Amino acid sequence: MTTRERSEALAARAREVMVGGVNSPVRAFKAVGGEPLFFERADGPRMWDADGNEYLEYVGSWGPMILGHGHPAVVEAVADAARQGFSFGACAEGEVLLAEKVRELVPSMERVRMVNSGTEATMSALRAARGFTGRDKIVKFAGNYHGHGDGLLVKAGSGAMTFGVPDSAGVPADVARSTLTATYNDLGSVRELIAAAEGDVAAIIVEPVAGNMGVVPPADGFLEGLRGLCDADGIVLILDEVMSGFRVALGGAQARYDVRPDLSCFGKVVGGGFPVGCYGGRAEIMDCISPAGPVYQAGTLSGNPVAMAAGLATLRQLDEALYEGLEARSDQLEQGLRAAAGDAGVTATTNRVGSMVTLFFQEGPVTDYESATRSDTERFGAWWRGMRDRGVFLPPSQFEALFVSASHTTDDIGATLDAAREVLGTLG
Ligand code: PMP
Repeated sequence: MTTRERSEALAARAREVMVGGVNSPVRAFKAVGGEPLFFERADGPRMWDADGNEYLEYVGSWGPMILGHGHPAVVEAVADAARQGFSFGACAEGEVLLAEKVRELVPSMERVRMVNSGTEATMSALRAARGFTGRDKIVKFAGNYHGHGDGLLVKAGSGAMTFGVPDSAGVPADVARSTLTATYNDLGSVRELIAAAEGDVAAIIVEPVAGNMGVVPPADGFLEGLRGLCDADGIVLILDEVMSGFRVALGGAQARYDVRPDLSCFGKVVGGGFPVGCYGGRAEIMDCISPAGPVYQAGTLSGNPVAMAAGLATLRQLDEALYEGLEARSDQLEQGLRAAAGDAGVTATTNRVGSMVTLFFQEGPVTDYESATRSDTERFGAWWRGMRDRGVFLPPSQFEALFVSASHTTDDIGATLDAAREVLGTLG
């Protein structure tokens, strides 16, 4: 019998001292029963909780751990950097090396600025776009999540969608009014908003592969269509690649779908598990940022040397062969899940782009926010708990992507599918 006594005791203490017992809402597991797990250790594709239970895991710290946990090259780079000094408050070579590596892998990143999270990257990219264009409004898509910046918590996905509060309290109405919300994969809805805004749209921001309403791939021509609409009206196209960057291809979604944005945002993989984000793109837009230009943006710990070392060591491990392996094992997982659901008589559909996968408990197709919300979230909760009880740790929400890492083997996927068949069998 699995016990989770220590996790439960820690959760009780956490609730007394930490808001809601967590430092980020999705960790409260409210959508799947509300019993947070506390973890102690991770290695490769596995993690161990505070009670010593072992899990094959597909959260991957919500995306960063593309190599799996504790890759020796990354551990060594972090230890070396830490010995040299934690933080200088001044420039260091690691910042240049990581920026050069990002630009080598993603050529649209002509100028790069390091920040500390995906949220900072998107907030700053929007400010840059507004400063460059002198316009106020932005267009985002329902069910896309771009971090917790004020203007971006309008019809947001991820935790906001999981908890049924797509609009946050505490966001000034004036700020929310500058955010226009379109329908994902629907260019017509974007055209209408641009026309109604009468020349005041500074930027369109989009997850080029949506991961925050579960995985939703861009429809054929969608990203290209956005590029065209932006070109026609002098609008800055921002691809939020915080999740898709270095994940769906070495060059991110922009390489996979061959679309060149004006600005891009990265996070997660670019920090190799440390708090790093970055944004960048066309030099003439980025040169609006301080100290080169009038748009202010700064950070005490931005470009932190230990974090830069982790990111660089991670990106240096990535090559085409790694993505081929990820594709093959992710396909094995997706096909296996779909077949297992079919055999068990459970209504379900899958979406997958590269190593991002979602099993939706509904008939599908899932193409946007509206269709994603048709999923049976009660059933998802039972699925999640059943997998947890069999030692498989999945993202605790229907509206998230699971991530396969380079450390998951064919046998790991096989073991996961064995557990999935058992659990789906109990749900049919
Ligand atoms: N953009 C996207 C697409 C994301 O998935 C996330 C986080 N899941 C963010 C932005 C925000 O990043 P962070 O949590 O590092 O602030």
